[in-house]
Amino acid sequence: MKQISFKSTLVALLLIVSIIANAQDKKLPNIVILATGGTIAGAGASSTGSAYTSGQVKIEAMIDAVPNIRTLANLKGEQLANVGSQDMSVKVWLDLAKRVNELLATKECDGVVITHGTDTQEETAYFLNLTVKSDKPVVLTGSMRPSTALSADGPLNMYNAVALAANPAAKGYGVMVVMNDEIHAAKDVKKMYSTPVQTFQSPQEGMIGTVIFGDILFFHKPHGRNTINSEFSVAGVTSLPRVDIVYGCADMSPDLIDIMVKAGAKGIVIAGVGDGNMNAATLEAAKKAAKNGITVVRATRVPIGAVLVKGEVNDKEFGTICSDELNPQKARVLLMLALQKQRSWDDMQRLFLEY
Ligand code: ASP
Repeated sequence: MKQISFKSTLVALLLIVSIIANAQDKKLPNIVILATGGTIAGAGASSTGSAYTSGQVKIEAMIDAVPNIRTLANLKGEQLANVGSQDMSVKVWLDLAKRVNELLATKECDGVVITHGTDTQEETAYFLNLTVKSDKPVVLTGSMRPSTALSADGPLNMYNAVALAANPAAKGYGVMVVMNDEIHAAKDVKKMYSTPVQTFQSPQEGMIGTVIFGDILFFHKPHGRNTINSEFSVAGVTSLPRVDIVYGCADMSPDLIDIMVKAGAKGIVIAGVGDGNMNAATLEAAKKAAKNGITVVRATRVPIGAVLVKGEVNDKEFGTICSDELNPQKARVLLMLALQKQRSWDDMQRLFLEY
């Protein structure tokens, strides 16, 4: 008799413990990690060599490799792609936007983390900044060292990204990038170093905050319209107009513009010299393309600083558009979305000043 009551007490205790554990899980935010590949999912033969291949490790193994990450949130992983982000595509951007919007529209999802290669992460972050229709946190992260490397930076970046996405205070900041303990706004962040871990910087506007072992400190709100204040939507969209980038240099060849137009580009971004400048021959080719209905945007190859509408080039007179603060690759993203409908010069220029 005594034994039975001991057993039933034990069973009851176990039941209570599991009820408490479940109740705690329910209190944790629900975060979904969408994995797309990159060095964070990369693997190499040696922990001290620089050779490796991106996009080798699957999301479940990536989550399992991060100590204590499940104490931050109830986590679910989904593998959307597994590529080095040099192979990121408009198709994956559209898939990501669709999935993030689906998830965040439900009460069951409090935030999304996206693991992504660093090469084109700023473009994906900016694309989502314009196309996600929710103010819940969306956080991209990656790493500079593969998962097999000595002092791999991926696990802590992932931990910090989940901590940020799980924090209700991160609502309303638009899409963010977390790397190396720093939080950057999608509009401002740039890959500034080819290999060191401090690659992501917002050189003009500054980081919007820090996240140190999950503890978050915000400094300022991002500027520019984003997410719920964006007028863009990719609902039901399966492709985007072709937009190419021409890199400016001394004595640049104007015929590159004609080649792009012939190949079907609807928009061209010029990574101009200085304040979005180009030589006289290229400016003539740009004016001709603009007259023929191609949208030509002047950005700059200089890493820091905006391009001015009223600099050495008179955009309104020439029919060109000034990129303002967007670097060439982000100007291309905005232009692809903007070209979904016919616009006047004023309306197109407005977008570059507002987003
Ligand atoms: N090539 C890699 C990628 O972008 C580099 C990285 O993730 O750091 O996927």
